[in-house]
Amino acid sequence: MKLLLATHSEHKRREFERLLAASAGSIWEVDALPDAVRLPPEDGETFTENALAKARAAARATGRTSIADDSGIAAAALGGAPGVRSARYAGEHATDRENLEKLVREAPAGSGLEYVCALAYVDLDAAIELVVEGRCGGRLAGDPKGTGGFGYDPAFLPDDGPEGLTMAELSDEQKDAISHRGRAARTLLGWLEAGRPLVVS
Ligand code: IMP
Repeated sequence: MKLLLATHSEHKRREFERLLAASAGSIWEVDALPDAVRLPPEDGETFTENALAKARAAARATGRTSIADDSGIAAAALGGAPGVRSARYAGEHATDRENLEKLVREAPAGSGLEYVCALAYVDLDAAIELVVEGRCGGRLAGDPKGTGGFGYDPAFLPDDGPEGLTMAELSDEQKDAISHRGRAARTLLGWLEAGRPLVVS
């Protein structure tokens, strides 16, 4: 069973490939978005809005069942910022490093953080849309370290990880087991494997 992943981010594609398709016995495959498909700007007020907009755009452009995530980091000391603006925190074309440095400057070391991922599934033929969410709590490392992962990972000390290690110091398997994206992906997989039951919230 194939799902089109609506992202042009190579990091996210690799993570979703591992999370949905790489495990033994998985019947799911993740296809990359064709380069020509343009995704809408991430200008919604919520992760859910942005994830749905991307999955709908990919499904409309290709006629394929599509998934998309929108994710980011919320700092308790900054009232939840950068939130949906995580990718552009230090400016419209800011690099991951500039965004991370701004967060470390503005929030105190040890203060609370939360990664959030909204993951949208859109099947136009069956008229089904679903959004699931995953979260991962942690604290800000005053001294970023580690080379794995991406984005804010070197400054993120996950509550459920080994003491003192940042997300960027964990193996892929360790990150997947506790990450916001891992948790959202497992919720989506459970729903798919249950035969896509009607969800009433
Ligand atoms: P978007 O989902 O494409 O809007 O990007 C979300 C932004 O949040 C990325 O640019 C990263 O800076 C940050 N982010 C989301 N997930 C992660 C993660 O797993 N590790 C580190 N940073 C992340």
